[in-house]
Amino acid sequence: MSETKKIAIIGSGPAGLTAAIYTSRADIETDIFMGIQPGGQLTTTTEIENFPGFVDGINGPDLMENMQKQAQRFGSNILYETVKSIKFDADKKEYFITADGGERKYDGVIIASGAKAKYLGLEGEEKWVGKGYHSCATCDGFFYRDKNLIVVGGGDSAMEESNFLTKFAKKVYLVNRTDKFRASKIMLKRAQDNPKIEFLTNSSITGFYGGEDEKVNAVDLKNNLSNETSKMEIDGVFVAIGHIPNSEFVKGMLSMDEAGYLIPTNRTMSEIEGIFIAGDIEDKIYRQAITAAGDGCRAAMDLEKWLESLN
Ligand SMILES: Cc1cc2nc3c(=O)[nH]c(=O)nc-3n(C[C@H](O)[C@H](O)[C@H](O)COP(=O)(O)OP(=O)(O)OC[C@H]3O[C@@H](n4cnc5c(N)ncnc54)[C@H](O)[C@@H]3O)c2cc1C
Repeated sequence: MSETKKIAIIGSGPAGLTAAIYTSRADIETDIFMGIQPGGQLTTTTEIENFPGFVDGINGPDLMENMQKQAQRFGSNILYETVKSIKFDADKKEYFITADGGERKYDGVIIASGAKAKYLGLEGEEKWVGKGYHSCATCDGFFYRDKNLIVVGGGDSAMEESNFLTKFAKKVYLVNRTDKFRASKIMLKRAQDNPKIEFLTNSSITGFYGGEDEKVNAVDLKNNLSNETSKMEIDGVFVAIGHIPNSEFVKGMLSMDEAGYLIPTNRTMSEIEGIFIAGDIEDKIYRQAITAAGDGCRAAMDLEKWLESLN
């Protein structure tokens, strides 16, 4: 009989916890490093309406708590620690993870450390996140039927999110710092041709106002040429100014693109045998809970097969 293998999962969002459910059920001893955001990005939001299986939707923190309990039910071990570095011995196929509690040795690793959306960086803005201030149109656009919205950004994502939001919104104001756009010509033109989108160039949001329901109902909009600021009533603000992947701890070790997204080379395996990648840490396109969970499943199954292949 082969000895029990022990693996580490770095990250406790939908990708990491789904991977843990699979590895634990496959009798692989599993440590989950929870990181500074136990449960991942969904713990910062309320209603999740697009995760299958919940007819009336589910609260983000509740969904993640359920996933964690499900992983623990099959024996996953929870470590409230943040990983600082990984070392490995390629010949022995041993992986050494250094986290807050010191160094531990594993037979394989899944990196599911996710990404964080960039927000505007205004003082006190955290208060409004999820309350009229959003970073994902696919996730939250649906709540803004017949409303007036602002999208902030000048790249392809901003154009795409603006177009998408016009399906629901009465009007979308696209706010960009300058009158230059990083977006591709075709995406820019599509947004410019959309009668529901109005461009507000050379402009920046400098403050939020909220109503009694504690949701954003207006913003301060600064004209960057004249420096004049005016108050603009609005039902919601979506930022589309990029994401920061949580990949610093493997910088120089694993290949990543210029933004820091990891790049799997053999299905979900990285170029280092035994280290697998799942979720938003490598996905800059879909960025959904269900796709991250699916990725976690794939990485766990690939890891399991790879461990078997070593016997
Ligand atoms: C406000 C908001 C609302 C959203 N709404 C929806 C929605 O309605 N529907 C939907 O499908 N998607 C939604 N999303 C997107 C969804 O949350 C993400 O696509 C999903 O969480 C990605 O999962 P993940 O497991 O890859 O990473 P994340 O959820 O980002 O989790 C990453 C995990 O890695 C950990 N970590 C990071 N670095 C380290 C380290 N060095 N050591 C140890 N751990 C580490 C973090 O603590 C965290 O637990 C929303 C996102 C946001 C921000």
